[in-house]
Amino acid sequence: MAKPINAAQVPVPTPTQEKGGQGNGGKVSHQGPSKNNVISLPGMCLAESCKSKSEKANFCMEHFDWFKEGLITKEGRKPTDFNKKFYDYSRRLMKKSA
Ligand SMILES: [Zn+2]
Repeated sequence: MAKPINAAQVPVPTPTQEKGGQGNGGKVSHQGPSKNNVISLPGMCLAESCKSKSEKANFCMEHFDWFKEGLITKEGRKPTDFNKKFYDYSRRLMKKSA
């Protein structure tokens, strides 16, 4: 005859969950130092903070359009009136796709 399994053997999880508790052991997410210096590699798009491969004139297709529209120089730098130019450019894009 089989004996019933002793239920007292089952381990009980310690009740650590508290509703509304905020403390998490002082866990701090540590971020490494952000690198700000732009390094343009050959074969990469020259535009700032773009990590695409260059396809035309050292730009990716998107930034080549920017270059064509005068939004960035051939060095990948933004002109002083970039915001205005970008605004015009995005408006033109909107019209095109509309
Ligand atoms: Zn790009």
